[in-house]
Amino acid sequence: MTDQTVYLALGANLGNRREQIEQGIAALSEQGVCITNRSSWFETEPVQVENQPWFLNLVVRGETTLDPHELLSTCQRIEKNLGRVPSVRFGPRHLDIDILLYGEQCIESELLTIPHPRMAQRRFVLVPLLEIAPELTDPKHNQRYADMLSRLDEGKKVLRSLINES
Ligand code: AMP
Repeated sequence: MTDQTVYLALGANLGNRREQIEQGIAALSEQGVCITNRSSWFETEPVQVENQPWFLNLVVRGETTLDPHELLSTCQRIEKNLGRVPSVRFGPRHLDIDILLYGEQCIESELLTIPHPRMAQRRFVLVPLLEIAPELTDPKHNQRYADMLSRLDEGKKVLRSLINES
């Protein structure tokens, strides 16, 4: 199978958020996703469930020969292995990995929807994504993500993190 360009969003809001995300990126590299670019870190205000800590988020671009469902199970395995506080069995996940885009493919299966169904409504996804891929177009609606972001009426804060300066 030929390499496909994929975009993944990583986020955490519990524990050592940066460390968990770095470990997630390292695990992706070891498990079949060659990371070719990454955005800055962003501190982002939670959406939906608002009474929880802010998230640290970033978006990475990678090349992979994994098929979409293999990529999903790889992401879920990494979330599971890295995303828990070691002392708490079956505790909360401390790492979330979403598949945003898989080449130009549109996929709708029971387990997987690509482009990610909520990405176009989320500033915490679009802002980092556009930082590394400003010209990217949504393959389903054939619209530029930059235009989708400029029309987005979602006021949640997405702040470039001070970590980037350290
Ligand atoms: P969450 O707990 O929010 O990470 O959601 C995980 C669930 O979303 C899993 O059951 C996945 O099968 C499903 N899912 C559907 N599309 C995607 C996608 N593009 N990336 C990651 N998970 C997805």
